[in-house]
Amino acid sequence: MKIVCIGRNYADHAKELGNQVPTEPLFFFKPESAILHRDHPFAIPEWTKDCHHEVEVVVRLERAAKWVSPEHASRCYATIGLGIDFTARDVQAELKAAGKPWEKAKAFDGAAVVSPEFMPLTELGGNVQDLSFSLLRNGQEVQSGHTGDMLFGVNELIAHVSRYSTWKTGDLLFTGTPAGVGQVQSGDHLEGHLGGRVMFSVNVV
Ligand code: ZN
Repeated sequence: MKIVCIGRNYADHAKELGNQVPTEPLFFFKPESAILHRDHPFAIPEWTKDCHHEVEVVVRLERAAKWVSPEHASRCYATIGLGIDFTARDVQAELKAAGKPWEKAKAFDGAAVVSPEFMPLTELGGNVQDLSFSLLRNGQEVQSGHTGDMLFGVNELIAHVSRYSTWKTGDLLFTGTPAGVGQVQSGDHLEGHLGGRVMFSVNVV
């Protein structure tokens, strides 16, 4: 399986990093080895001094899809999870400035938190563009978002990516982060909420 992540899909987050709002979805991959093992703490890599949390709604693909239209993309998923796209922001900034790919800053071991459970979309109200989610750091809300604020909706994202890369069953789509990204530190506790439910709980070491 693969993880497809969307960059700059919330205007307020694109602006907080000084980026232009994109005119088409921006995507990149994380490998399966980036998934943080269940119940393991997240260990900040020793080669970064500025590791950021990015809380994101995660969609799991239930079927393969190639060249799917936005109209048909909703048939490709039925459950929704929540995750963190951990990002070594200092390393990413260096790579961006040099015009190089971001993988080193995004694809490292443990860089993808995926909630152990995925909720049936029907139990979350049925509208993937009407979901509220948030991240608490040490009990304080640091990020909150609403999927209605996405620049490109989930169906559009699935369709766009499928023009370039075939979706396989079990693939995960990280749909982008809202504003409020920030540095994590050893000793932090991160808790992700989706539709009023606690979806994951991660200790940082
Ligand atoms: Zn992200």
